[in-house]
Amino acid sequence: MKPPPFDYHCPETLDEALALLAEHGEAAKVLAGGQSLVPMLNLRAVHPEVLIDINRLPGLDHVRIEDGELRIGALARHRAVLESPAVREASPLMAAAYPYVSHGPIRNRGTLCGNLCHNDPASEMPAVALASDAEMMLQSASGARTVGAEEFFTGTLSTAAGADELLVEVRVPQAPAGQGAAFHEVSPRKGDFAYVAVGAVVSLSGGACSGARIVCAGVGDGPHRARAAEDALEGAAPGEGAFRQAAAAAADSIDPGEDFHADADYRRDLVRSLTRRALADAASRCH
Ligand SMILES: Cc1cc2nc3c(=O)[nH]c(=O)nc-3n(C[C@H](O)[C@H](O)[C@H](O)COP(=O)(O)OP(=O)(O)OC[C@H]3O[C@@H](n4cnc5c(N)ncnc54)[C@H](O)[C@@H]3O)c2cc1C
Repeated sequence: MKPPPFDYHCPETLDEALALLAEHGEAAKVLAGGQSLVPMLNLRAVHPEVLIDINRLPGLDHVRIEDGELRIGALARHRAVLESPAVREASPLMAAAYPYVSHGPIRNRGTLCGNLCHNDPASEMPAVALASDAEMMLQSASGARTVGAEEFFTGTLSTAAGADELLVEVRVPQAPAGQGAAFHEVSPRKGDFAYVAVGAVVSLSGGACSGARIVCAGVGDGPHRARAAEDALEGAAPGEGAFRQAAAAAADSIDPGEDFHADADYRRDLVRSLTRRALADAASRCH
């Protein structure tokens, strides 16, 4: 199918882009990598009157560590993030999850910020952002604001970003030294969206778990943090028994939907086994 008709703007500066967003608001859509937006246009799932292509905006393709944070700009492509030594250094969880994000040609165009703004419930990076206390730097013609991941992801394909706002950068606090991370998923083919994905980070101190984050994708209308499972691990000796108990709590914490890929029981089983595996791997990577 072909997309519905739209006006196309390709601003050369951030100010110009923000002015266009202010002018057109709900009638406009930002075009970044186009790897989610273009299929949705072609399926006529969205009908923007105006597309604002941000690909010519300067200075937004960075992936760097600054002031203890990993900072990734709106035009950093998936491939640049996947291959970045800064990501491996600052966010072992993001580094572990990125190989699951889509296929080569899509990674060449798609952006991390576009992925976060799209917020597909089966997408890996919103879950990583939630586990990592990432902050979204939003900018509009009337000012800038910062929104934490907890508030940013508001539901299926929806976020707290206003129609006149651009996500200019995502900031991820650098992971504490010694923390271990792992990410696992089950999908129909490598690079496809997950049926279920689970990410875990674990910190150990004096032979006990001193902190854990467990997040899931594909189990509801956005990324899910399994807090009861995290609580179950607090102070526990890391090992098969504790990981199984936490995995059971994670499975109990979700209320997954059904679709033609997987029913709710299968998704719960996947959360249980992927959580156990992710925790064991994360703990083994603590140093
Ligand atoms: C075959 C296929 C397989 C895929 N597999 C996966 C997968 O396994 N996991 C996964 O997570 N993703 C997957 N994707 C999606 C891919 O990761 C997209 O690149 C990503 O979801 C969107 O990034 P984009 O830069 O292409 O954004 P676009 O498609 O350009 O935009 C997506 C949405 O975000 C908005 N937007 C984009 N950038 C900004 C910004 N800076 N500020 C405000 N709004 C913005 C747009 O207006 C639009 O609503 C797949 C895509 C395809 C086609």
